[in-house]
Amino acid sequence: MRRITADYIYTANGSPIKNGVVSIDNQGTILSVEAHRNGDEEKYRGIICPGFVNAHCHTELSFAKNKIAENSGIDNFISQLEQLKQTTSLLEKQEAVKMAIDEMQHEGIVAVGDIINTALSIEPKKESNIDFYTFLEIYGSQAVMAERIWYSALELWEQLPKPKNIVPHATYSLSRTLFQKVRDFQEYFSTTTIHHLESEGEISFFKEGIGPMADRLKSWGLDLPMHIPTHRRPLESIGSFLAQNKKVLLVHNTFIEKQDIDFANNNFEQVYYALCVNANLYIERKLPPVELLKQQSHTICIGTDSLASNKQLSILAEMKTLDKYFAIPLEKLIRWACYNGACALGMESKLGSIEAGKKPGLILLNNNNETFDLQQTTVKVIA
Ligand SMILES: [Zn+2]
Repeated sequence: MRRITADYIYTANGSPIKNGVVSIDNQGTILSVEAHRNGDEEKYRGIICPGFVNAHCHTELSFAKNKIAENSGIDNFISQLEQLKQTTSLLEKQEAVKMAIDEMQHEGIVAVGDIINTALSIEPKKESNIDFYTFLEIYGSQAVMAERIWYSALELWEQLPKPKNIVPHATYSLSRTLFQKVRDFQEYFSTTTIHHLESEGEISFFKEGIGPMADRLKSWGLDLPMHIPTHRRPLESIGSFLAQNKKVLLVHNTFIEKQDIDFANNNFEQVYYALCVNANLYIERKLPPVELLKQQSHTICIGTDSLASNKQLSILAEMKTLDKYFAIPLEKLIRWACYNGACALGMESKLGSIEAGKKPGLILLNNNNETFDLQQTTVKVIA
């Protein structure tokens, strides 16, 4: 057994405890959380909190680290990434996944909502201590292709470890036929996730059938999907394909507005908003309306997105950016970074907060200063 203390214990689901003590057994399961020391503790300077939950990542894109120019805009980003996929060997891609997983462990991340399109990351993830929720993402805006896309997804599905789900890539990238297949497939207790309003072009695409997204389809010689334009906002247009799920995790939300939040809160039983702010700055130099989201929702969580659009896979780095631009109180940031992500992925009974019976991992946030300054903080895995 270990008794561990620090200047503060942030449990991620309750008030911070000054000079608190966490006791864990040899497996890392929390035995107790107390407010008073008795002098025999391992003592640390700084803050102890649960391991981080990365609510949105694509480990299989790790090979693209430092290879796509910043501030390219989403359209350039996608075409550069597609080119790189063709020119990178399988071995390089697998090595990059392993390095990305090591990096996340080092950064105190204990669970990840990981988007996949191929079998590439299955083996390296099995070997790691991180808990993965695997989201097999599908897309295809041409209804005639839906059947083929669906059956190849089902083949890959068989190979995936649980927890897992088949999810739609984005509001704009599936035909209604394919959307319907995804919806019919949903397991009652699963989480579904979708990229939502990562770029402004999604709005003009749905409302008027114009803009960069429509242009891209035309440049590939493809017709607009039958249902475009819908004359409504993206989530209002496709929400019925997500509504039966217990948990809906909307990712990015860079161009979200109050009416989208109202729609989500009114139509989904449990909605979570994943912020990936460093990726938003990398691709579009634009940040989501975090203040608005914070007022309207208690279920914000944090993701890194992939190394194609981020310099690192670090939840702490995302917290620093949120702190820099939006001055979010630390207690709230830690809740977003740990507990809310765990809830979004359905892992809250095991991790995400420091509570007796859970095994969340313990990390130390420390900056060797008299006063705690998040911008100067580093992370160290304690348990
Ligand atoms: Zn993503």
